[in-house]
Order: sequence, then C-alpha cells, then structure tokens
Amino acid sequence: MKRQTSQRRQTSQRRAIVQVLEAAPGPLTPQEVLEVAAQTQAGLGLATVYRNLNSLQELGDVVAVHLPGESARFELAGRGHHHHFRCEDCEGVFELDATCPVAVLEGVTLPGGFKVKDHELTLYGLCPTCQAA
Ligand SMILES: [Zn+2]
Ligand SMILES: [Zn+2]
Repeated sequence: MKRQTSQRRQTSQRRAIVQVLEAAPGPLTPQEVLEVAAQTQAGLGLATVYRNLNSLQELGDVVAVHLPGESARFELAGRGHHHHFRCEDCEGVFELDATCPVAVLEGVTLPGGFKVKDHELTLYGLCPTCQAA
C-alpha cells in the first residue's frame, strides 16, 4: 500500500513538472521549475526535479537547452525550430515565435566553400517586462 501511495505521488510530481514546462515562456532551469512546481507540490525538492527532468529527457519528452556559459535549461520536446531570447536584466530565457531570421542560410554555401546545414541562435537584450520597469 505504501508503494502505491509513493508511486501516485511520483506521477503527480512528474505531471506537475511537465505542466510547469508547458506554461513557461521559455526553457527553465531546474531551480525555476522547482519554484513554480512547489506551489502545488508540497515537499518537492530540487533532487526530485532533477531526477524527473532526467527521466523525461530519456523518454524524449523533454530536451535540454544549453546557452553558452550557463547551466542547462529544459523545455518540452517537439516544439519545432525556434530560437531563444535571453534578458540581460532579469536573466529570463524566452522562446521566440518570430520567423527564423537566418532560415535563408540553410543549404547555402558560404564564401570559402562552407555549406550551412544547421544553426543555433540566441538573442540578447531586454524582455518587455524589464523594458517597462
Ligand atoms: Zn527581463
Ligand atoms: Zn533558425
């Protein structure tokens, strides 16, 4: 009986973590996931968040986002091609749904004979909230 109870708690913790990622404006650090998820999951700890993010990643439901010089953030898989915007003030990272500005480069051969296959792009600046402050 005890095992059943603990399994049910695990399921609800994982569901809460997925819901937090679904509602987030961009990829989140485990600490950010914890801050939001803990509002509905009493007693949730950082180690549990890490463990769940790792298994979700193994299942292919979640992907890690690595910005240069920063610890990994996580977002739901299957969101399609997109880019991130990092606010220099609040340090939030947001998913942009603007049209990809460099899609024209895909498949192009650049001067020197470099053929472009893929790219990653992070934009830096101020988010709307920080601009208003
Ligand atoms: Zn900001
Ligand atoms: Zn792009």
